[in-house]
Amino acid sequence: MQRAALAELGLRDWHYQLLPAPPDIFGEIVRGLGPAGFCGANVTIPHKEAALALADAATDRARAIGAANTLVFHEDGAIHADNTDAPGLIAALGASPAGREALVLGAGGSARAVIWALREAGAHVAVWNRTAERAQALAREFGVASAAISAPADILVNCTSVGLRNSSSTFKDLPVSPESLDTYATVVDLVYRDGGTELLHEASRRGCAVIDGLEILVQQGALSLEAWTGLPAPIAVMREAARRGSQRPPDDPRDPSPQRSQPGPSDPGGAGAGPGDAG
Ligand code: NAP
Repeated sequence: MQRAALAELGLRDWHYQLLPAPPDIFGEIVRGLGPAGFCGANVTIPHKEAALALADAATDRARAIGAANTLVFHEDGAIHADNTDAPGLIAALGASPAGREALVLGAGGSARAVIWALREAGAHVAVWNRTAERAQALAREFGVASAAISAPADILVNCTSVGLRNSSSTFKDLPVSPESLDTYATVVDLVYRDGGTELLHEASRRGCAVIDGLEILVQQGALSLEAWTGLPAPIAVMREAARRGSQRPPDDPRDPSPQRSQPGPSDPGGAGAGPGDAG
């Protein structure tokens, strides 16, 4: 997706490559990227919190969410961190959720970004989680409601990993039934799998607007690309490339990030990009 975007933008000497990074040397690796010619990096699980911690500066949203998925390496050596997962979700929605009721399923890392994004965009957010204490703690931290059972809402967002591996357990593990889905105008599933998830199949069958995890991946990636290049992202090209390569799950750490050539950006446990010769 990022490579297709760099080609479309005519940035032929930029490369986006995978840089595996063991947690114990993550900081060392990342600090070496800027001097090596990388202009930025995507960071994936399990490094998002560490990426924020090592940055010299960070956006308010990255700090509020407590995780960064995008790093920019400046020429003076400073590392800036951002979280584009949150605005990526809002972009994928396509319409402002202001004033709408949103039910978020899950209390992990992705739920933090989604809850923050929806709340900041003016939605009334409730969070449900299998382990209720985690939902309650997250609700307290972000000043939203916690839900013991699924509540009616305009927007339903699945931020659990349910549906990733075993689609048949979806409606056993989540507090919604196929029949209840038509109470949601829009159903979003952060999980993406080739062929679509059971949650979105059922939601689509019942007339809900559906947004899959790949679209969110594309939107957050587009914002990262813009941070690195300063150019508008070619979203359609990125979407097409992502759909073509969608046999892999979205947060798959094999997905590389951007770097500049001479050596370019890499993907530390995520990916990096930049102009240069790497990746
Ligand atoms: P995480 O931090 O590990 O959180 C996992 C969440 O799933 C927890 O709330 C957990 O509940 C819940 N869960 C796991 N198994 C469950 C089950 N059998 N029944 C009910 N709930 C269950 O993961 P994450 O980083 O938030 O990611 C969640 C999913 O979103 C992953 O599948 C990932 O691939 C996807 N994702 C997609 C994108 C994208 O760009 N599309 C970005 C990030 C993540 P407990 O607290 O009770 O354990």
